[in-house]
Amino acid sequence: MAGIYIHIPFCNSKCAYCGFYSLPSLKLKERFLEALKAEIVTRKDYLQGDAVNTIYFGGGTPSLLSLKEIGELLHLINAHYPVASNAEITLEANPDTLSLEYLEGLHQLGVNRLSIGIQSFFDNDLKYLSRRHDSHHAQQCLDWAKLAGFENISIDLIYGLPSSKAEQWNKNLDIFFAYSLPHLSAYALTLEPNAILTKQIELGKVPPINEDDALRDYEILCQRAAENGYLHYEISNFCKSGMHSKHNASYWFGTPYIGFGPSAHSFDGGSRQWNVSSVERYCEAFSAASRHCEERSNPDTEAYGLDCFVVPPRNDAKRVQEPVIEKEQLSPEQHYDEYVMLRLRTHWGIDLKWMKREMGERFSAYCEQHAQPLIAEGRLSQTREFLYLTDEQMLFTDGVTEELFWE
Ligand code: SF4
Repeated sequence: MAGIYIHIPFCNSKCAYCGFYSLPSLKLKERFLEALKAEIVTRKDYLQGDAVNTIYFGGGTPSLLSLKEIGELLHLINAHYPVASNAEITLEANPDTLSLEYLEGLHQLGVNRLSIGIQSFFDNDLKYLSRRHDSHHAQQCLDWAKLAGFENISIDLIYGLPSSKAEQWNKNLDIFFAYSLPHLSAYALTLEPNAILTKQIELGKVPPINEDDALRDYEILCQRAAENGYLHYEISNFCKSGMHSKHNASYWFGTPYIGFGPSAHSFDGGSRQWNVSSVERYCEAFSAASRHCEERSNPDTEAYGLDCFVVPPRNDAKRVQEPVIEKEQLSPEQHYDEYVMLRLRTHWGIDLKWMKREMGERFSAYCEQHAQPLIAEGRLSQTREFLYLTDEQMLFTDGVTEELFWE
């Protein structure tokens, strides 16, 4: 089993709170798509023939790609990777880019899961976040998605907004539940170091965020999700039975995946790789690889390994040269830390029996021993061989995780 992630690094404009890597312009889109196709082809052996069960178009705003462009990428992936016939194929979409016609086209292409960046059904929140859509269009997109044939729909909502009191957050949830959608991703608003909102708050141009608001909304969210039959399966994710994001779950279960596009990460079971966070550097490198392959009738992609994508330094002294793909081999201790960190975010929790069998008693005994004081303090729970966090404990995951980390 394996997954494929494709990062589309473009947006129509930059949202005030955004900390993701994306460019607010489509100027480089054609060059980027050429490089992306080259990356898909030249790294085809990375997953070593594992069946691909999930494909995820993330961003940025993948719904800025035309249907033709998405169709070509899916065709290329199917031609070079063994994609399972029932693969989950998700596309992140922003309401300002959607129409009924576009959604029907996506469905026909085989995209079977949508993740729509609604964020709020209220205009004052959308304005605070500087989103491009309004509350009417947010709901219209959900109607269109259903009309187009999508059953597996997730939306993103943001809570803890100073523009929104508890009553409005409850109304946001009312609208979500009324649509009976199978999945919700809900995030507390956080201030990213380089985000426009952080600057605006520092300058006193917009109201600051308040941790108590986030805590209040989180409690409302957990309670109402449970009342409405949703499983809180990860800190920020809720689903109806069996409707969790299979792609995201594969990250938490250590399934290998390959990430295409600038800033995308890959994992082969033993090491992590990540692509450079620059569309320009990415395009230079993979366009070079594409030309190389075109020049050879039978391109030896094995010999043309990752190192060859490192762009040679230019005669620009100011330019800091960083590799196009960086790689880190995980030590057993790093593996342990990752497992603890990822699994404590989920309702599946840490499986001590699995840890003993797969990582060795050294790690399971260490974990169990360090868990005891946390359990005694009520910061961690244990049922049989599973260590996990309850709804109330989940908000403080970081502190617990650090105390379980390898010293
Ligand atoms: S649409 Fe998403 S990725 Fe793009 S700027 Fe807004 S928050 Fe960032």
